[in-house]
Amino acid sequence: MTMSNLEQTLSIIKPDAVERNLENEIKEMFKTNGFKILKEKKIQIEKSEAEKFYKVHETKPFYNDLCDYLSSGPIVVMVLEKENSVLGNRELMGATNPKDAEEGTIRKKYGISIDKNSVHGSDSVENAKIEIDFFFKD
Ligand code: UDP
Ligand code: MG
Repeated sequence: MTMSNLEQTLSIIKPDAVERNLENEIKEMFKTNGFKILKEKKIQIEKSEAEKFYKVHETKPFYNDLCDYLSSGPIVVMVLEKENSVLGNRELMGATNPKDAEEGTIRKKYGISIDKNSVHGSDSVENAKIEIDFFFKD
């Protein structure tokens, strides 16, 4: 018997994609692939908030640029729901570097470079909960 495993994950349409008006096309890709968009909002965050969101990367050489970038323009944050959505979203997004992303993935289709790679997705169920709370806890 197959057990149901309905999960929620956090997705972000990053500034490079919002700027190019790709919001609707990317949302369609989620819906076509069976994800429900439970919550969504378009916001712009402060650099200090980006630093908190990406704290796991604080020792990396790209951390400062990454936080400047995520706070550089409007983003769309969404809670996606589907069976096994954390892994499923990572698969649909494709590799971090769009050059390495599989055909048919969001990053292959829309990503410009490793830093401007159009979307964020939670990397584990545990982090999905933390990231959903980060943006949607009142
Ligand atoms: N990033 C970057 N340079 C790198 C690695 C990552 O600019 O060498 C950026 C990139 O935008 C990536 C984000 O930092 O999406 C977070 O990195 P992570 O390794 O968590 O990749 P992701 O989970 O987004 O695939
Ligand atoms: Mg990550």
